[in-house]
Amino acid sequence: MSEVLLSARNLTKRFGGLAAVNEVSVDLWRGRIHAVIGPNGAGKSTLANLLSGDLAPTSGTITLGEANVTGWKPESVSKAGLGRSYQKTNIFLPFTVWENVRLAAQSRAPHPARWLRRATSFAATNERAQRALALAGLEHRKDAVAGTVSHGEQRQLEIAMTLATEPRVLLLDEPLAGMGTVEAERMVELLQRLKAEHAVMLVEHDMDAVFALADRLTVMVNGQVIASGTPAQIRADANVQAAYLGE
Ligand code: ADP
Ligand code: MG
Repeated sequence: MSEVLLSARNLTKRFGGLAAVNEVSVDLWRGRIHAVIGPNGAGKSTLANLLSGDLAPTSGTITLGEANVTGWKPESVSKAGLGRSYQKTNIFLPFTVWENVRLAAQSRAPHPARWLRRATSFAATNERAQRALALAGLEHRKDAVAGTVSHGEQRQLEIAMTLATEPRVLLLDEPLAGMGTVEAERMVELLQRLKAEHAVMLVEHDMDAVFALADRLTVMVNGQVIASGTPAQIRADANVQAAYLGE
């Protein structure tokens, strides 16, 4: 069932005189991958930072589920259902894959200090971690030390750690960066699995992957949306050709 899980309206972020994000609106739907593309400096990461609460917008509103989360702290936005993987890794390399996912799941457990709830919360946290590991396709690497698994598996692990917080909306910043062909194919399959239950916003430079995966695209240049639509519409858009794809 399709529904809008996150809706941003007229988001603007100024850094001094520069509008890094300028009146951008975007809807993220359950069951859809929404790719945000554009040249370096277009404002893609700033947009992701606004949606995750890492930056407060200068103006505009963000609605997550039923909540107006504009100006909320990242922890609160995360609790409200938004999961974000960062380009910079949060993986603790000396720990095993399982321990990393388990820790991420723990960060979401309610009232961890309440001893009365501990037994049920312990089981629930393990289940959450187990589900995330399976969805990310990493069960067979459970006991491997995170620092020893491949680059592609570390990126899968980051996604598993994000999934362990049970988000409804996933923001993924360049999940394919630095991957070889086989790793990239595996990640594309993983992202396709994820969209069944999540709304996904994908910031990605690999255009083959973007056009293979995206149900909707937003093209940004200099902080502004120059085109938005289906892959077919974006491919045919003369402005996009001129500003970006034709480069
Ligand atoms: P993209 O991710 O599309 O490459 P960014 O969102 O990182 O683009 O950057 C958009 C613009 O905002 C760039 O001109 C960048 O230099 C500027 N910018 C980003 N973050 C900051 C900041 N914290 N302070 C000042 N300028 C910034
Ligand atoms: Mg960026």
